[in-house]
Amino acid sequence: MRQHRLALCKEHYLEWVPEQTERFIKKYEMFSRNEKILVAVSGGKDSLSLWDILVNLGYQADGLYLGLGIDGGIDYSHESQRLTEKFASERNLKLHVVDIEKEYGQSIPVLSMISHRGQGKPCAVCGLAKRHEMNRIARDLGYDVLATGHNLDDEAAVLFGNTLVWDSERLLRQGPVLPSAEGLARKVKPLCRFYEREMTAYAIASGIEYIYEECPFAEGSQSIYYKELLNQMETTRPGAKLTFYLRFLEARKSGELFIEKNVEAAHLHPCPKCGQPTSTDDLCSFCRMIEKAALVTG
Ligand code: SF4
Repeated sequence: MRQHRLALCKEHYLEWVPEQTERFIKKYEMFSRNEKILVAVSGGKDSLSLWDILVNLGYQADGLYLGLGIDGGIDYSHESQRLTEKFASERNLKLHVVDIEKEYGQSIPVLSMISHRGQGKPCAVCGLAKRHEMNRIARDLGYDVLATGHNLDDEAAVLFGNTLVWDSERLLRQGPVLPSAEGLARKVKPLCRFYEREMTAYAIASGIEYIYEECPFAEGSQSIYYKELLNQMETTRPGAKLTFYLRFLEARKSGELFIEKNVEAAHLHPCPKCGQPTSTDDLCSFCRMIEKAALVTG
């Protein structure tokens, strides 16, 4: 790990990653051992490693897998669900599985076709559905906090994209912890300071079987382009990504950023159908999408 000027053997690396995770959980006051955590698991290295680490650290962590119905020629959803279920059953962990198609009548690609008349990738619809479902299930099942496996590469790419266009509202919402609000579960990212390659190394060294393939719709995405740019910087300046992210968090915390002063919280009220917070006067975006799909497909 050039950015830390640190090299560890497998045994010590498998101790170092959980120790650091515990440090970040405490530093950012993510959750305590008395709280119930719902880990959003996709079958990938980050989310499965996060679940593994939290359970080994003694936290009460259950898993949530969302079936998106994505095939893309590699049977992506089926394979990622199989690996997630295998991981949970081998460790005797509680896993909630929610299939979007069974729950709402259509898979993510079909919902996207209906919403966007067949244009573009389904990522916007997928993101909306994931946020809605993760929050709904955390709230309905009484979890205190929702944990996701975003790593430093993910966070630095999002920060880079938001900074390029000075999206102050999104910058204000970015951080290791998004506090709970009326109808919204607290969201945390305990792996946000680990490089992607560090999490890959952890998953491999701990023998976690995960899906190697990316979602087929990830190819050519803007976030992958930003990750490539940041990786180029990292090659010549080890630690550049970590510094970029940590300095942002410091500036945000100290109130140095203009965004802290200027952004007003949007006025939210419950969606009349699902009860989740929305800024519109009518149904939330997710319920509107589901209603439109039901109308189109009869
Ligand atoms: Fe969803 Fe795949 Fe897009 Fe990610 S890349 S948002 S999993 S469709």
